Amino acid sequence: MYNANWLTPDHQAFAESSNRFFEAELLPSMVRWRQNGQVDREFWRSAGAIGLLGASAPVEFGGSGCPRSFDAVTLYQQNKFGDTSWGFSVHNFVMHYVAQYGTAEQRARWLPGLISGEIIPAIAMTEPGTGSDLKAIRTTATKCEKGYLVNGSKTFISNGQLADLVCLVARTEHTGSAREISLIMVETADAEGFRRGRNLEKIGLHGQDTSELFFDEVIVPADNLLGGKPGHGFRQLMEQLAWERLSVGIMALGACDYAIDTTLDHVQDRRAFDKRLFDFQNVRFKLAEAKTKLEVTRAFIDQCIEKIDAGGLDPSTAAMAKWWSSQTQCEIVDECLQLFGGYGYMTEYPISQLFIDARVQKIYGGSNEIMKELIARSMER
Ligand SMILES: Cc1cc2nc3c(=O)[nH]c(=O)nc-3n(C[C@H](O)[C@H](O)[C@H](O)COP(=O)(O)OP(=O)(O)OC[C@H]3O[C@@H](n4cnc5c(N)ncnc54)[C@H](O)[C@@H]3O)c2cc1C
Repeated sequence: MYNANWLTPDHQAFAESSNRFFEAELLPSMVRWRQNGQVDREFWRSAGAIGLLGASAPVEFGGSGCPRSFDAVTLYQQNKFGDTSWGFSVHNFVMHYVAQYGTAEQRARWLPGLISGEIIPAIAMTEPGTGSDLKAIRTTATKCEKGYLVNGSKTFISNGQLADLVCLVARTEHTGSAREISLIMVETADAEGFRRGRNLEKIGLHGQDTSELFFDEVIVPADNLLGGKPGHGFRQLMEQLAWERLSVGIMALGACDYAIDTTLDHVQDRRAFDKRLFDFQNVRFKLAEAKTKLEVTRAFIDQCIEKIDAGGLDPSTAAMAKWWSSQTQCEIVDECLQLFGGYGYMTEYPISQLFIDARVQKIYGGSNEIMKELIARSMER
């Protein structure tokens, strides 16, 4: 873990233990996950057992009750190890939805399993017909005698093949207003009419299952409406988005640190024209630029982490963190790959993986264009 003002001795101890865990359990699994197109369930349970999944979850349900900066440590380190398969970030978002908005009964029902890794969650907002324009979703949850009757389809859903609990964004009224959007927790094991589609083939993130999900007359008990009152889903989503966007920035830092490290190894080892690559001025300047961009980004992300712990990260600052860090990540990994020459294009070199995995950071979590729109909106007089 790198040094930052927000890192306390407790964070350091947590970082050391997660580091040991990643070395022992994540590193040896990464190739297999990419081949299988998904992570092993067993890994989720192991992560739960050492306290990674519940670091910021309430103590009464088995969590550690720490601030979100502890989750920042996990996100950073996972990416520093070069992993993009394990859907920890999505798990973390859903856990916070349940912890923050769930009724007492819902928190008691789902948090222990989320914290232990028994329950793998997903969040399903995006639909084939709409992504950026979330208010235009068409999936419906209509009140019926047994609860809600859910109809619709979702796509690009991370953890979609494995998910036991889907936090589904659906319309509970049909007037076209954002106030009719609700979060419905679908327990997939008991959901007749629920179907997983393909594990979608992607240009990167090969070990992360990203899926279509179909809901055909699925009956969901009324008790599964998050928070118990319909029409609060849009507000709930908006309140959590700052953290979700900052998470993209934290992942970018981990990936960039790894990219620069592995590139430094390569350019100091490889020789051309009787010199190390690192002895050419262009190589030195490219790495100096990459390092500078990374450190400037890190300073901003660290500020945002402090703000999120203090409860004050506003949406436009989070949007800046998301677009800037993902853009910077793509620039850094591209420059680093170039310094590998042909080897950078070979999949056995981690830099090639970092390159293809970086691209989606500019798209998901709200595209970078939407981020700029949000920032511009906050500047309007
Ligand atoms: C690997 C992966 C994992 C994902 N995981 C999840 C998940 O777990 N859950 C989930 O719900 N979704 C997930 N998504 C979906 C992701 O959040 C959406 O792809 C993203 O929000 C963009 O939506 P879209 O694909 O429909 O693109 P569109 O909304 O169709 O946008 C297409 C282009 O138009 C631009 N655009 C749209 N509106 C505007 C505007 N107002 N101003 C300027 N430009 C605009 C966009 O920036 C983009 O460049 C995932 C996507 C990927 C690729």
